[in-house]
This record gives sequence, C-alpha cells and structure tokens, in this order.
Amino acid sequence: MKHLKIKGIMILVRFVLAALTVASVCMIPLTGNAEGEPVKIYSAKDMELIAKNPDGDFVLMDDIDMKDVSWKPVDFTGTLDGNDHAILNLNVTETSEATRVTYDGNYKTYDTYFAGLFGVLEDAEVKNLILKGINVNVEKDEPCFVGSVAGFCEKSRIVNCSIEGIIRLDANSKMFGVGGIVGYGGDASITETDADVTLICIDHDKENRDEQFMGGGYSAGYIDVDKCSIKIDGYDSDHGYVHDGGLVGMYILYPLGNNYAGYINNTRVEGMITFFEDNTDRRAYCKDFIGEVMNWTYEYVGNSSDFTRNEIKDYSKDLLPHYCEGNDYTKETVEGSCEEYGYTLYKCNECGYSYKADYTMKIHTVDSWETVIEPTFEEEGMEEGTCKLCGAKTYRSVPVKEEEVIEEPEPVIENIEITEPEEQKPAVKEKNGGSDSLLGIFVAVGLVVCVALTVAIVVVLIRGRRRR
Ligand SMILES: [Zn+2]
Ligand SMILES: [Zn+2]
Repeated sequence: MKHLKIKGIMILVRFVLAALTVASVCMIPLTGNAEGEPVKIYSAKDMELIAKNPDGDFVLMDDIDMKDVSWKPVDFTGTLDGNDHAILNLNVTETSEATRVTYDGNYKTYDTYFAGLFGVLEDAEVKNLILKGINVNVEKDEPCFVGSVAGFCEKSRIVNCSIEGIIRLDANSKMFGVGGIVGYGGDASITETDADVTLICIDHDKENRDEQFMGGGYSAGYIDVDKCSIKIDGYDSDHGYVHDGGLVGMYILYPLGNNYAGYINNTRVEGMITFFEDNTDRRAYCKDFIGEVMNWTYEYVGNSSDFTRNEIKDYSKDLLPHYCEGNDYTKETVEGSCEEYGYTLYKCNECGYSYKADYTMKIHTVDSWETVIEPTFEEEGMEEGTCKLCGAKTYRSVPVKEEEVIEEPEPVIENIEITEPEEQKPAVKEKNGGSDSLLGIFVAVGLVVCVALTVAIVVVLIRGRRRR
C-alpha cells in the first residue's frame, strides 16, 4: 500500500511540473521580447507601445512620421535609443498626467505640469534621436514647463540628439517656462546634442507678476551640459519677471540647501531672444548662457557664443516670429533623398519671412523586401528592405491577413467583421492570443487530471486503511 501511495504522489508531482513547464513556455512571449532586448519601433503606430510600457526599453528601427498621429506626452522612466533615426512632425498640444514640484528664485514651490515628447523623464535615457519639425504648442492655466525632448528631466541622460522645431507656451499662471531641449530639471545631463529651435512664451495673465523662464537648452534648474550646440530664436512676452538665457534661463540648485557639483562645458550658443518684461520694478535677466545664476557650483569651460539680447519696451503686442495676417505664402516642396529629409518651405509674400515645415521621409530605392513580422488576422506585418543606393535598412507595413470568403447565400460573416470595435484589437505585444487559449486548455486539462489523481489516491489510501 505504501508503495502505491508513493507512486501516486510521484505521478501527481510530474503532472504539476508538466503543467508548470507548459505554462512558462507559453508565458515567455507574453512578457514581450527576450531578456535585455529593447522593443523595436517600426512605425508611428508602434509609438503607442511606449505609452503602454513607460518603463520599457525601446529602439527606433526606422524614421517615424507622426504627422497624422495625436501624441500625448508620456511620463517615462525607460530608455529610448533613436538609433540615429528621426521622429518627424511630432505635434504636442497637451501636458502629461504627472506633476512635479518646481521652485522659483525665492524657493517658492509650484505643482507643475509638463509637455514635450515626454512629460516627465526620471531615471531615463534618450539617445541617438532626431526630432525633426517638432511642434509643441500648449496653452495652460496651471504652472507649466514645456520642452522638445521633455518638459521635466531628473536623474536622466539625453545623449547625441538633434532637435529642430518650434516650442510654444501660452501661459495663464504664475510659474512657467519654455526650453529648447528640456523645460525644467536637475541632477541630469544633456551631452553632444544640437538644438535649432524657435521658442515662444506668452504670458496672458497681465495682472499677476509671474515667474517666467526661457532657455535654448533648458529654461530652469541644474542640468549638466557638455558638447552641445544651441541655435535659438526666442520670443518672450512677460508681465512679470523674465529669466532668459541662450542656454539656461535660471540656474538653480533645488531644493534649498542642495549641494551639487555640476558643469556647463564645451557648448556653443548662437541666436537672439526678443523679449519684454512689463512690471514696475524691472530687472530682466537675459544673457547668452545663463540668464540668472542662483548658485554657482558648476564648472564652466570651453563655451562660446554669438548672442543678441533684444529687449522691447512696447508691451502692447505679444512678441512672435511673424506678424503678417492672412495666408499669402509661396510654398516650395523639396523632395527627400537617401541622406536628407524632404520639407516644404513656406515664404511670406508680404515680408519675406520663411520657415520649413511638413517634413517628409528620406527616399530610398529598394528592389526586394523580406518579411520580418508575419501579418496575422488582427495585426499588420512588417517587411525590411535594403536601399540599393546607400545600404540603409528601411521598413514598410504589410496589411492584415484577410479571411477567405466562403461563398454562402447570405454574407453574414462580413457584417460581423465590420461591427467589431477597433479598440479591441490586441496590441502587438499581446498578439499571441492563440497560445493564450492553448495555455488555458493545457492548464485546465492539467488541473482536472491533478484533481482526479488526488481523489484516486485518497480513495486508494482510505480503502487501504480500511482493509488493515
Ligand atoms: Zn510676413
Ligand atoms: Zn538610400
């Protein structure tokens, strides 16, 4: 009897082990990619993956055109490797969800909102990324800082990025700012990064004396900077206190009493900030590198500038890069090539002001395509091609598989397909729905067998005892 009992237990243990093995094999694809591998971003649609997993690791496989995609800034604690690819035409019109405390020059605190590609960056890294034609245009009644890469940046690194675009904030609060790369932050670094930015900050709250910040790198805080190049064209209209710098609006270690040995080195600043400061006790900080320095604890070597402080005394009209009303523009479209992005050049026929917008992808020549992701009935696939002129890898999507239409007298099936709600489409990561249901069956069968065996063993044991 004892022998039977041990045998029963052994079988039970084997079944449990088998069930666990099946479960673990099925689970691996559910957690995404293999260990340590970043999630590959091929298309604008894939950018949603960053929002769904904001502490993940991501790599761009190709340039991404965000022209027709709405983007809500993500509060991000992961890594993004642009892989020397560009995100084109990113439009940002709202702030992210998270708030963080910011400090003005009197260490007064404000719960503040942020916008950019990312809202809040913490313990994060963004590298090898090009932002081409980014257009941040935010209106906010609460304290708010905006930038291109991020509105807020702490304990994070921005490395080898290139930014070109317009960043604008229309503010209606007492604390706000606009930065070419980051809005506000500290204990972080920006390295080997170029920004060519038009910055616009308009204070709509004329009655209150508010704190306003603008910087071609970042508008306020204590972010380290090395080997960067900033081209700034800034426009700042403020009925309060202006803190503007070609690189940093106000350098401030926060919170009060913080010790930090930072650096601002080997950086070039070019451009102009046009501003007014409308108040009765004017002091207007506006300089080539740092508008106002609160605490001087940083290294400062190898920097140079060609910067103009353009102060305006007429407070009646908000300052903008261009004033002509109407739409009398000449448009010139320039095609992309293997090396360059395409764009449209808009030129005002009244005053000659011109700007580039509507960037288009590089154009490569590919003869043959290879499948890298098979399409399914729910998800598009992806094909990879190699340009025969420059050797660059490029990708294109493959439409979802279509179900074969079975000829029936009434095509009821098609109707059912059409009414299926779109948002129920599983995300790329969850695309192995088949193995999910397989897993369910395995587990269920395993459980039934386990229960049956347990019952059998118990019955055998009880009978054995009775016999004794
Ligand atoms: Zn004009
Ligand atoms: Zn090419």
